Amino acid sequence: MTGDTENAETVIIGGGHAGLTMSYFLSQLGQEHVILERGRVGERWRSERWDSFHFQFPNWTIELPGFKYQCDDPDAFAPGHEVVRFLDGYAVFIKAPMRCGVAVASLEQGSRAGRYLIQTQDGTIEATNVVIATGPFQLPAIPPVRVQVPPDLFQVHTSKYRNSDQLPSGAVLIVGSGSSGCQIAEDLTQGGRRVYLSVGRHRRVPRRYRGRDFGWWGSIMGVWDHTVDMLPSPQAKNDPVPLLTPANGGHDVDLRRMATDGVTLLGRLQAISGSRLIIADDLKKNLVEGDLRFTDYKKSVDNYVSKTGLDAPAETSSDNGVAEPDEVLRPILEIDLKAAGISSIVWATGFRYDLDWVKLPVFDDAGEPVHQRGVTILPGIYFLGIRWLYKRKSHFMLKAGPAEDAAYIAEHIKTKGNQIDHPQPGNRKSGQNVVSY
Ligand SMILES: Cc1cc2nc3c(=O)[nH]c(=O)nc-3n(C[C@H](O)[C@H](O)[C@H](O)COP(=O)(O)OP(=O)(O)OC[C@H]3O[C@@H](n4cnc5c(N)ncnc54)[C@H](O)[C@@H]3O)c2cc1C
Repeated sequence: MTGDTENAETVIIGGGHAGLTMSYFLSQLGQEHVILERGRVGERWRSERWDSFHFQFPNWTIELPGFKYQCDDPDAFAPGHEVVRFLDGYAVFIKAPMRCGVAVASLEQGSRAGRYLIQTQDGTIEATNVVIATGPFQLPAIPPVRVQVPPDLFQVHTSKYRNSDQLPSGAVLIVGSGSSGCQIAEDLTQGGRRVYLSVGRHRRVPRRYRGRDFGWWGSIMGVWDHTVDMLPSPQAKNDPVPLLTPANGGHDVDLRRMATDGVTLLGRLQAISGSRLIIADDLKKNLVEGDLRFTDYKKSVDNYVSKTGLDAPAETSSDNGVAEPDEVLRPILEIDLKAAGISSIVWATGFRYDLDWVKLPVFDDAGEPVHQRGVTILPGIYFLGIRWLYKRKSHFMLKAGPAEDAAYIAEHIKTKGNQIDHPQPGNRKSGQNVVSY
């Protein structure tokens, strides 16, 4: 300690699965470190998921370095509390040097070059290396139309949605048809709610195809290992996450079938005027685009099977059975909230970064971290666990997602290497890119 300032070699900020994985590799290399976590281990899986949440991929995919999820049924989908139990178990297994309940308020240049100051409510730490592992899905991103919502309507973002009982009685408008929006629509319908679902861009995929789960095909086809340089453009990083569900044993998300089951499908929410919702005339277009993604996905599997000669039975189920819902044939372009009995809105509109507390020049103009495999231009400053950090799986827990990245950074820390040709940071504004889940 120097005065009130504690000295540390390496500080990991964030005790989610990325932070824990980082700790595992640093320990393997005998590197002293500490993890600062503002909540508890795996806090987001505890407090930012709904009650009926299940892990999106089958149990056999859940692993972190040296530690596999133990369960009776490898093909089932783990409920959220099991994911938390797994992470707690991992923290014990790797003897993670956790300091829970310590929120980092700022990270800035230290007293001399190559040292960084970390301010927390418990005091200041000066460190040589800092790994920022605070997650890819941080702050709710809610579109500007929110300011037009009448004050008597209950509003909640997916990260704070728990269950149907949390909402006042009445119908619910869900804005956003990604994985979260559709799973919450199913949850609410099962809770007896009337649901209006505003459908946007989505990437529909089959839960199972040719006898195997989506997660299995991703593994065998090497999709989780696609690297960021294989993307056709930087914008492709923001492609929606696959739309499928682990709920009720796992099944496809077929929006037309949801409509037959009572959900009213709408186009994108454009504006709210008084008690009227103004809806874009793009439902059909969005559904058709979702269908194309579904068909493309199946083609990619079929091509893979033909090319490799893999023994995979042809698909027998057909997705042509659902009739076009009324609202596709005769789009609903306006709804009166009162007449429809809508009392709540669930914003399933994604997330953005919360990194304003990092007061260092390691961001581009749009507030995105600038790095090569997590290594930034500033010696000793690293990012881990963000989307497409290096591979598609980099932020997932599936198949030990951040393990290779963490091993790479740990080696970098150990050897004090910084010989990377970096893109230059820009004039950061703030994290504006919105990513859905
Ligand atoms: C709704 C939803 C469902 C998902 N389902 C799946 C799934 O089924 N399978 C899968 O593999 N992935 C899933 N993901 C993605 C997955 O949750 C994230 O990719 C993952 O949590 C990233 O892990 P992480 O450790 O990088 O970040 P996080 O899990 O976000 O952990 C970051 C930690 O940092 C802490 N923290 C943040 N700021 C500070 C600060 N200033 N000071 C101290 N601590 C701080 C947070 O409390 C948190 O514990 C889902 C994401 C969402 C939003």
